[in-house]
Amino acid sequence: MPTNEGSPLPAVFISHGSPSVALEDDDYTAALGALGRRVPNPRAMVVVSAHWQNRWPIRVTAWRQAAILHDFGGFPAELYALDYPAPGDPELAREVAGLLAGEGLDAVLEPRRGLDHGAWVPLRLAWPAAGIPVLQVSLPVPATPERLFQLGRALRPLRTREILIVGSGGVVHNLGLVRFQDESAPVDDWAAAFDQWVEQRLAAGDTDSLLGYRSLAPRPDLAVPTTEHFDPLFCAAGAAFDGERATGIYEGFRYGNLSMRSFLFSAR
Ligand code: ZN
Repeated sequence: MPTNEGSPLPAVFISHGSPSVALEDDDYTAALGALGRRVPNPRAMVVVSAHWQNRWPIRVTAWRQAAILHDFGGFPAELYALDYPAPGDPELAREVAGLLAGEGLDAVLEPRRGLDHGAWVPLRLAWPAAGIPVLQVSLPVPATPERLFQLGRALRPLRTREILIVGSGGVVHNLGLVRFQDESAPVDDWAAAFDQWVEQRLAAGDTDSLLGYRSLAPRPDLAVPTTEHFDPLFCAAGAAFDGERATGIYEGFRYGNLSMRSFLFSAR
């Protein structure tokens, strides 16, 4: 029987792909289901999503209940009917804002904004019951990879208190080049090369290279032409303890170049 007792909960990075994954049943959704069974009962989850960029200060959701956002267009009606009525935890939100402030990262509470699809779509696949409190922490703009790593570092102590840290974005994410008409299109070389580079740096525990990916990785201009989907990776990596390495949750592509690579940092 899986248990969370005795060791910190993982810090997770999820490539969330297209919102339509919420309606799918494939190896990716199965992998997220397995994640939910591996970490079955977090006390709460703190999510940094690509879909909540904000200028400083950092925002932390602080409501007991809020409607989720269907923040996407042009998808089937059934996607807009989905819900994920997870509760919030305003007391924890105040603590999170305090942890961030303690690291010199200005943070304020946000009393209204519900979870965006970068948060609720993957969480719904992994923990469908929606019974676990969820907080969202905004992705501050502007911010260097180092600053976002520091954001993750500020959240790290929560892991020892049965709280799951989740970064939600995408390792390769270029909507201008995605071939939406063919979900199983052959993978573009540039996308595979960038995805593999990230995987190798993660496997080696080479955080310095990841932080310098803009000049070190192959074709970041194609793989992540804007940084918001890659940035949550630094929050997850920052929440890792010394000596923890990434282990895979899922790897694969959709639509020719949309990487679904997802992984977690944990001691085992
Ligand atoms: Zn997204």
